[in-house]
Amino acid sequence: VAEEHPHRHRKLTDAAGRSGRIEPAPVPPRRDAELSNDVWGFKDTGFFINERGEVELSGGRYGLSRAPMPYLIGWVRDTFGCEVTPDKVKASQYPPRLPKPQVHPRFLEDMLELLGEDGVSVDGETRLRHGRGQTQEEIFSIRYGEITRMPDLVVYPNSEGDVERIVEAAIQHDVCLIPYGGGTNVTDALRCPVEEKRTIASVDLARLNHILWIDPVNLIARIEAGAIGRVLADQLAEHGFTMGHEPDSIDHSTLGGWIATYASGMKKNRYGNIEELVIDVSAVTPAGRIERRAIVPRESAGADPKRWMLGSEGSLGIITSAAVRIYPLPEETAYEAILFKMLEDGVAFMHALMRSGATPASVRLMDNGMFHFGQALRPVSAGIRKARGRLERWILTKVRGFDLDTLVGCTLVFEGTRAEVRAQQRAAYAIAQRHGGMRAGASSGERGYQLTFAIAYIRDFIMPYYILAESFETSVCWDRAVELRENVIRRVKAEHAARKLPGKPLIMARIQKPYHTGVAIYFYCGIYYQGVSDPVQVYMDIENAAREEILRCGGALSHHHGVGKIRRGYLPQVMSKATLEWTRRIKRAVDGQNIFGCGNQQVDDPGSDEA
Ligand SMILES: Cc1cc2nc3c(=O)[nH]c(=O)nc-3n(C[C@H](O)[C@H](O)[C@H](O)COP(=O)(O)OP(=O)(O)OC[C@H]3O[C@@H](n4cnc5c(N)ncnc54)[C@H](O)[C@@H]3O)c2cc1C
Repeated sequence: VAEEHPHRHRKLTDAAGRSGRIEPAPVPPRRDAELSNDVWGFKDTGFFINERGEVELSGGRYGLSRAPMPYLIGWVRDTFGCEVTPDKVKASQYPPRLPKPQVHPRFLEDMLELLGEDGVSVDGETRLRHGRGQTQEEIFSIRYGEITRMPDLVVYPNSEGDVERIVEAAIQHDVCLIPYGGGTNVTDALRCPVEEKRTIASVDLARLNHILWIDPVNLIARIEAGAIGRVLADQLAEHGFTMGHEPDSIDHSTLGGWIATYASGMKKNRYGNIEELVIDVSAVTPAGRIERRAIVPRESAGADPKRWMLGSEGSLGIITSAAVRIYPLPEETAYEAILFKMLEDGVAFMHALMRSGATPASVRLMDNGMFHFGQALRPVSAGIRKARGRLERWILTKVRGFDLDTLVGCTLVFEGTRAEVRAQQRAAYAIAQRHGGMRAGASSGERGYQLTFAIAYIRDFIMPYYILAESFETSVCWDRAVELRENVIRRVKAEHAARKLPGKPLIMARIQKPYHTGVAIYFYCGIYYQGVSDPVQVYMDIENAAREEILRCGGALSHHHGVGKIRRGYLPQVMSKATLEWTRRIKRAVDGQNIFGCGNQQVDDPGSDEA
């Protein structure tokens, strides 16, 4: 009967009538010359103080660029209780003295034969870049400290075959390999273990950056692991698609890095976190290749080793490509900002919104501290805008009864078909009203959302003004979110006071990425460090105290930053002895020689079994 059916050969197509695989043209690999060596981001972008004493962002990449921010320095002074003057800065000592490379001669020979001279580097600056990520300690030590160990060489494979040869050569010559994506991790994941005596080779995936194919009917793309987020997003958009994965580091982080760190994007409500986006992973490990013959939406075929690559942080092998879920570009993207009288109202709003079935792609609630920080980044307002600002403030405080010292702000991004966006907006506005919310407009919402990409540059801008500031994050169930935030803030203030540090601490939070069961919380914490000896350690001690508080309040060790080396000491507190032993046995089975010896997540002594 089926054979006689008139439509039996009708091909499925996408809305544009396409079927069959699209093979996008390759794009050039990352150019390190465009990137700063001693601070975050692009060389052409950075905050500076102009001749009028206002802060500006150079370059033209972000919304904030070239619009003087006259309130930022005042905010820094008030928040930290310190002076910020361009003539009182801690001068950078970059470049630091670098240890000499110790390259295994036969491994080097093999690499030169395989990759040619332009596929191998022993240049100091290149090695330095590959031996660090973006933690504050790493940046501080590059500018003011000492570098004791870094990769001895960097190799650039051109294909998965090259990656296999590199791993084989490393096994043969007993060389340690550390995979490198975009170098944006914030867990010391790329920091080389000082005790590693073998040659360390950083394997940079920059040249494995192609979208191999796009399947428009089944909405899958196979992408090489070194593809950089922003470039990948632009390329998919050219063909009418998006992966929807937007971490704040999208300008520099890579697909392989996202998988290896269990990353989460700002629009995860609509598109999912990386583990939901990835359908299949190809990886080269010392025990062979991990791959699947067919790509299917879901498979019940026993435990799945490819899932072990998620969150593996470079310790099991090299992810070479992945098949990921893609989506047609949204018909519409709309923004909004909503103010609430206090944090509890905003959290109740987010909780109800999650249960509405029409959650926007992104919802982020800035606490009062974070709200004022956002205000400090606004450009100067003059004329009508200034008058309108005054009027709005008057209505907000005098008519609507908002207190500037307790209010909080929520930014929302609605995305989807027109009908979906309308449904999301209707749900959000109705729920906000029930919780006393006041709409602050689309432009505030968009600005709040886009601000994040530029904010990343602030930490390294204020470091020479004797300020150390860093972010850390967690996730927690709904019923403990408010309490966790409060306790962490209280703890940071107490730790700061106990150490009799100068000035005041910065501690503020954003409640974001809501789930059915809970929410992620993202903190910014900072100290003023003039006259403080070993300020990085002092800062870390305070952050660790905050981490203890997070764990005490039922929070996760990390929501998306990961473990690396910075948090591995906490693993025995959150995992049972048996769980840690499983992890160790998997590592031994896959990589008994410890070729992937970066030391991330490595816990030699499991400690107590109280978890
Ligand atoms: C300003 C800023 C904003 C950030 N925002 C977010 C955010 O919104 N969401 C989020 O999840 N994270 C965020 N991060 C953290 C970071 O961007 C992520 O952890 C990211 O996934 C790291 O990707 P990468 O390509 O830079 O990896 P890298 O830093 O190069 O590497 C990270 C780890 O993964 C391993 N690795 C990298 N590539 C591979 C591979 N192909 N195969 C095997 N192992 C590999 C490395 O060995 C290392 O252990 C942010 C960081 C910064 C500095």
